[in-house]
Amino acid sequence: MTPFDASSRGGLVLKGVPLSPGLGRGTACLLPQAGGGLPVADRKPAADLGAEASRFAAACRRAAAGLEQIRLAVGAAVGTAVAGILEAQELLLRDAVFLDLVSKRIHDKKLSAETAVSEVVGELDHALGQVEDPYLRERSADLRDIGQRVYLELTAGVRQLDLPEAAILVAPELAPSVVATLDPRRVSGVVTELGAKASHVAILLRSLGIPAVGAIPDVARSVPAGSPVLLDAIAGLVFVDPEDHVLREYARLEADLVAHDALLAQEASRPAVTTDGVAVRVAANLGKAADTEAAVRGGADGVGLFRTEFAFDIRGRFPTEDEQAAILRGVAERLAPKPVVVRLLDIGAEKTFPYFPLPAVANPALHLRGTRLLLAHPEVLRTQLRAILRVSGHCSVSVLLPMVGGVEEVRAVKHSLAAAKAELASEGTTFDDALLLGAMIEVPSAALVADDLARETDFLSLGTNDLVQYLLAADRDEPAMSGYYRALHPAVLRTLRSVVLAARRAGKEVTLCGEIAADPFYTELLLGLGLRSFSVAPRQLGVVRHEIRRASVRTATALARRVSSLPTRDEIRAALERRWERCGGALG
Ligand code: PEP
Ligand code: MG
Repeated sequence: MTPFDASSRGGLVLKGVPLSPGLGRGTACLLPQAGGGLPVADRKPAADLGAEASRFAAACRRAAAGLEQIRLAVGAAVGTAVAGILEAQELLLRDAVFLDLVSKRIHDKKLSAETAVSEVVGELDHALGQVEDPYLRERSADLRDIGQRVYLELTAGVRQLDLPEAAILVAPELAPSVVATLDPRRVSGVVTELGAKASHVAILLRSLGIPAVGAIPDVARSVPAGSPVLLDAIAGLVFVDPEDHVLREYARLEADLVAHDALLAQEASRPAVTTDGVAVRVAANLGKAADTEAAVRGGADGVGLFRTEFAFDIRGRFPTEDEQAAILRGVAERLAPKPVVVRLLDIGAEKTFPYFPLPAVANPALHLRGTRLLLAHPEVLRTQLRAILRVSGHCSVSVLLPMVGGVEEVRAVKHSLAAAKAELASEGTTFDDALLLGAMIEVPSAALVADDLARETDFLSLGTNDLVQYLLAADRDEPAMSGYYRALHPAVLRTLRSVVLAARRAGKEVTLCGEIAADPFYTELLLGLGLRSFSVAPRQLGVVRHEIRRASVRTATALARRVSSLPTRDEIRAALERRWERCGGALG
């Protein structure tokens, strides 16, 4: 617990880190996590114990069958070690001792199946954590995974959770697949223990417009289920059971924010041109097809980054070629004639799908990710390329390669692209033979060979969320590394400048699609570094356009030159903050 204001007479105030800005008000709803030691919302005694035990046994059977399907579908592709883990999990789900333990708990303590699973898995997990044998200790992760699978079978996933109106979800951590299913009309906010601003969960929450505060230790125990909560995800505060004067103060702020949003909405129809006449492209980042409408309303100059992972995430299997093509066609037709940049599936590291388990490795962020992973799974790559090509026959789309390390990966994808084109041609399907292909600059090697990549491709896209992490060796998802994960490090600014120059030399466009593109605090600096194309979350389109309209490239260039030569990120930040204060901040 982190009491923030000890003098607060009534409710508790917790201090965390804002992950997705905004204000939220509602009722705390603890998200159950089997074995996670979290209090489960449903602790009511079960009425029919026999029925609960059968429900539990059926959930185990379904979970085991699901695992078997995954193992058979991808086992060969992911190697025997992973297949072995899956098989061991299946065996445990069919293990009489485990089944008996939970059934007995249901009967002895008159518990619902969910609560009994949560308790038993939690206890076994704790016991395994105590043993000396490192092999057995490692099995606790499998156990938690099994608990989670059975739990999700029982609750049929978070979608079926009995969320109150205006729920404030409280959980130690949320998986991207869970966040992808949240309905912003029901979920007024999220409070988590883990979470860093650059994490995919935070990006997703921002794109959904759900205010969120993270990095609150032991949050599940600090916020009682059912208590009224006010979330200030601008300052990073969580008011549990807030007092009246706090509520009044925030009601005023909320009215101000509504007026601010209305002002920004007017920006949609105004051109993003600087005071000295330089036109800047501001496109939208889409996390899923449903974001398209917000992008259109915000006046986006097309889509600069369509993250395709979420269509894969919300299904229990790979989407088919037809499904992928239908999703993309819907987005591209709505935005036509503006172009849509489709990023190939970018998984690996912390982004995985339950049906596509990746080998457990010591350093997942430095293992196969993005394009490299796709090259290792040609069927997945082929299906996605075919889907994009099919849409390119009717709409303006292009392909973006994530996590490119150098020219060889681009060439390998070009090879697959040529093969996919040949197949489609032989089937008589129309496609755009000149489909544009771009590379993301997200790792230092790609930045260093940006000249070659710019020549080899049609455009570049700077993914600063990952570039900062790999350049500075600081995990983007790890709150403890946030002191080192700093976009304003001189190494980052100098790298951005050199990539911009490389693209310019090759006559290719470079877009910045990392999160800093969406933050008005950075806009002037980025213009000064030479960037003329941004791609941002739809809700940030207005504020970034506004910032561009009040900047001058001449002044911005001088600012960028001055701060890039400073030796530390603190000096750079201080210089920008002074400038920001002088200009009166965003919408000043
Ligand atoms: C990036 O790394 O900046 C990026 C846009 O990709 P993602 O955040 O999806 O990894
Ligand atoms: Mg990235």
